[in-house]
Amino acid sequence: MTEQTSTEKVAVVTGAARGIGAATALRLAADGFAVAVVDLEETAGKDTVDKIVAAGGRALAVGADVSDEAQVAAAVERIATELGAPLVLVNNAGVLRDNLLFKMSQSDWDTVMNVHLRGAFLMTRAVQKHMVDAHYGRIVNLSSSSAQGNRGQANYSAAKAGLQGFTKTLAIELGKFGVTANAVAPGFIATDMTAATAARVGMEFEAFKEAAASQIPVQRVGVPEDIAHTISFLVSEGAGFVSGQVIYVAGGPLD
Ligand code: NAD
Repeated sequence: MTEQTSTEKVAVVTGAARGIGAATALRLAADGFAVAVVDLEETAGKDTVDKIVAAGGRALAVGADVSDEAQVAAAVERIATELGAPLVLVNNAGVLRDNLLFKMSQSDWDTVMNVHLRGAFLMTRAVQKHMVDAHYGRIVNLSSSSAQGNRGQANYSAAKAGLQGFTKTLAIELGKFGVTANAVAPGFIATDMTAATAARVGMEFEAFKEAAASQIPVQRVGVPEDIAHTISFLVSEGAGFVSGQVIYVAGGPLD
């Protein structure tokens, strides 16, 4: 880690060991943020941190399960002490437990609710006090096009729709403290998550991506950098009048 500069803000990205979270951490570091790379294991975030540091940035790997209240409290305290008060939060950590409703277990349901909804709630509640103190903050929650309903994802679509309501409420409650909250709802993004879905339905990932691309107006699937770019805008200082919005980043119109 290099010394903190007086203008450098601290951003927290959950689930930042890989995929959309890693791309977002790298992008925010390139934008000038010191970045806390939160994932289940501290060691898992090392790769993202090494890339940021190699590019001249400042980052810290923090191990925490976002669905665990005590781990979240400890993680945010450590970030504030070692990196600085967090003024940007990207709630990105996520899991899938896809199944048709009649086969979906209570544990499939609870796991998805706990990581996406309780995780975003606990992280935001822990970080918001730093934002309120500074009278400045930017929160971005990862929703999904699946919020509109998707076969095999009763749990995930409910959680991702729930995050949209959560986002709008944060915008209403925290606006007077200089804090904005928005949701980014990606369509198909090529990551380990969609690779796992391809495996579950018995398709090669390349064929799965081609089939998805043919249904998308821009005729390609998304890459993590597509989402990182949108998040970069939403957490910028200039985006202070954009709040409570859900931005679909899906290569075509959704609303
Ligand atoms: P991914 O599976 O590649 O990465 C998710 C990361 O979250 C992993 O590093 C994982 O270890 C971490 N994580 C999981 N549970 C955690 C927990 N309890 N605490 C801390 N970290 C945890 O997924 P991705 O494709 O990069 O997706 C990132 C986010 O974007 C997720 O919220 C996902 O639901 C959402 N999203 C993805 C897509 C897509 O097509 N890939 C589409 C819409 C929304």
